Amino acid sequence: MNYIVFDLEWNQSPGGRFRENPKIPFEILEIGAVKLNGRRKMVDEFHETIKPLVYTRMNRYTQKVVHMDMKDLKDSRTFTPVAKSFLKWCGRNPVFVTWGPSDLFELQRNLEYYHIEHRFPQPFLYIDLQKIYSLGYLDGKKRPALHEAVEAMEIPQDRPFHAAFDDAWYTAQIMQKMEGIKPLLGYKSVDYYRLPEKKEEEFTLNFKTYSKFVSMLYPDKDAAMKEASVTDLRCNRCGKPLEIKIDWFSGAGGTMYYALCECPKHGPVKGKIRLRKGPGEEVYVVKTIKAATEEDVQDIEERKHQAQERRHKRAEKEKARRKAKKAALAEEKKLQQKARISQQKARRSRTKKPDTSPKGPKKGD
Ligand SMILES: [Zn+2]
Repeated sequence: MNYIVFDLEWNQSPGGRFRENPKIPFEILEIGAVKLNGRRKMVDEFHETIKPLVYTRMNRYTQKVVHMDMKDLKDSRTFTPVAKSFLKWCGRNPVFVTWGPSDLFELQRNLEYYHIEHRFPQPFLYIDLQKIYSLGYLDGKKRPALHEAVEAMEIPQDRPFHAAFDDAWYTAQIMQKMEGIKPLLGYKSVDYYRLPEKKEEEFTLNFKTYSKFVSMLYPDKDAAMKEASVTDLRCNRCGKPLEIKIDWFSGAGGTMYYALCECPKHGPVKGKIRLRKGPGEEVYVVKTIKAATEEDVQDIEERKHQAQERRHKRAEKEKARRKAKKAALAEEKKLQQKARISQQKARRSRTKKPDTSPKGPKKGD
């Protein structure tokens, strides 16, 4: 088994988002990669720049970071032959390693744009070294820049950053230096570029300490949350249905849902649903189920309490709004009535006027 540690540089529409081709918002200009064997020893390298076909001028923000000019790319091969060489060089069933999730995503988007076939598995697991670095050395949530990790690990900085090959090389160096957190390299991320297309393709992955479910795309949040496959709660260790203590409720931003359960055999278990935006307006769900610590239990109870308070406040606000509307309506009615009365009075006085005005034949008739 080989690891393919790779990095891409890409360009985006020089004319801003209005002139962007939505099928390929980021056009790859360079692929750099290092092949490591199962013992994380460097065995090969890949590096090639690409002549772009979609955006032939450099976006000014891209220009600042990539250290390349369009002139430098005019003799390069186009994406299709380069990508084919790269995929062939990767070999069979490699484990891809990247710094963050975007490189694997953009690689697939470019492959799709040029209709290049590949044999990536589904579900597609890879190593997001940025995440593993954070889990091992930071708080697990921070996503440090590559150069920050290089600095912290005291890797000699004798190459420029933001060149595909150099970044891949640095990433590989970090991976080699992760002796202390080696078990974390077994921790795989799921690629979300290709989502399950239908119900039967939705999948659950069982990792050592948690399970992860990935859904197909649904029109919206409500449609997704109606699905049994989405809300189903089963123990990540024994697979048995869980006893629900606190059923799914929405977090503050509306994109997270939480649940608290109990497995008769394994104790407290927590469920978390993250709603993620798909390519259009649609959403998909990533659900994780994991043993809950005492702290987790308190955290979910607290969140539930906050959710109830938010609902209560919303209800109060709605009540106040209705009351105000009712009062305004009554006020308007009153005014209309007043206006009607004064109109009637005016009409009456007009119809009376001829009576009071001197009538009859004019003098002199
Ligand atoms: Zn269980």
